[in-house]
Amino acid sequence: MKTLLLICISLFLFNHQLQAQTKKTVKQTKTQSKTQTKSKKKQIKSKKSRPKRQDWTKRSVPSKHKNPEAIGGYSYGCILGAKAVPSKGVGYQTIRRERNRYYGHPFTLKVIQEIGKIAHENQLSAIEIGDLSQPVGGLMAFGHKSHQIGLDIDIWFGISKALDQEIKEKDFEKKHPPMIDRKKEEIDPHVWDDQRHLLLLKTAASQSEVNRIFVHWAIKKHLCQQYELDKKNHQEQIKHSAIMLDELSNIPTTSDESETELIQEEGELKLNTPAESTPTQADELPKKSTIDEKWQWISKIRPWYGHDQHFHIRLSCPKDNALCEGQGTVRGLGCEELELKKFSHRYQGWVKIQEDALKQKREEELAKLPPLTEAQKAEKIKKNKELQEIWLKQRATVNEKCNQLLEKPKKSKSPK
Ligand SMILES: [Zn+2]
Repeated sequence: MKTLLLICISLFLFNHQLQAQTKKTVKQTKTQSKTQTKSKKKQIKSKKSRPKRQDWTKRSVPSKHKNPEAIGGYSYGCILGAKAVPSKGVGYQTIRRERNRYYGHPFTLKVIQEIGKIAHENQLSAIEIGDLSQPVGGLMAFGHKSHQIGLDIDIWFGISKALDQEIKEKDFEKKHPPMIDRKKEEIDPHVWDDQRHLLLLKTAASQSEVNRIFVHWAIKKHLCQQYELDKKNHQEQIKHSAIMLDELSNIPTTSDESETELIQEEGELKLNTPAESTPTQADELPKKSTIDEKWQWISKIRPWYGHDQHFHIRLSCPKDNALCEGQGTVRGLGCEELELKKFSHRYQGWVKIQEDALKQKREEELAKLPPLTEAQKAEKIKKNKELQEIWLKQRATVNEKCNQLLEKPKKSKSPK
């Protein structure tokens, strides 16, 4: 009986142990498969996602593509066959070269050289070129989100007394003060120089390759004020000239014949009046549109956060770079209050109220239009879908081309 009891207990214990073991194994298998699925998911995700910041920075030289090409958007892309901008040239020098961000599309180099040349001709001293793009573009380890496709240039507002002037990192901030009083968000007249800085910005904006330039909103506001001032002076001048002309026309003339005579030229009878032969006051009057034409360049200057120590030039996509995603042409001078304040942290609440009001007004105007038919609605949805598909396809090509730049070169098999 005792033996039977012992056998029963042993059997029970063995069974219990076996069950526990099975449970453990099942649990282990479950965890294992869970981990495997997780890593598989991660693998798929990492295959799909963009490379890390560090991966781009590791590439220390440009790719060897013969035809330079900007691929993707300013904040999502890379550059093939980038060119290194020399450390210095006529009227310019590049600074902080240890960052290895002095590469770009050949257009970028051309624009820098052109601005440098004009700066030199106008004795503006050497302009300082800051970050461009990394050797193959892409996201940087720190700092900018854009500057990825070799078409962005940072130029510092600070003045270098001469080329080759070495600026140590610790002196950098001191040598490049903000152009605005950051508390008041207004131009700081102690550092801002209308003659130099306006000419510099105008020169940059006048380059046909330049799409837009980002500056602190207070700088843009200052440019708008200068434009308004010029327009006001110009209108005063027109008013003054009109009064002068009016007074002149009231002076009595000696005889009508002395002012008008008939002349014969190549058999043709022509009436020659003083108005035709000599310029009058009216001819010398400045045309009304000249002021707007003169200040047209400020339309390319756009307000953006920061950008009070340097300005940021963005070039348009080169025409033959099919995968380059550019930005549209800017419209208007951009001097409207809302447009300016939109990019100031101080006015965020105010801007939101204004924008909501604008949105409501737009919706009200849309509501007045006849409603879309079912067919029109379907067509609109179809078009949007098509556009999205085109865009997704292009992004996939951008990813593929850019990721190839980061792949390690495959070792060629030695022939047997
Ligand atoms: Zn920049």
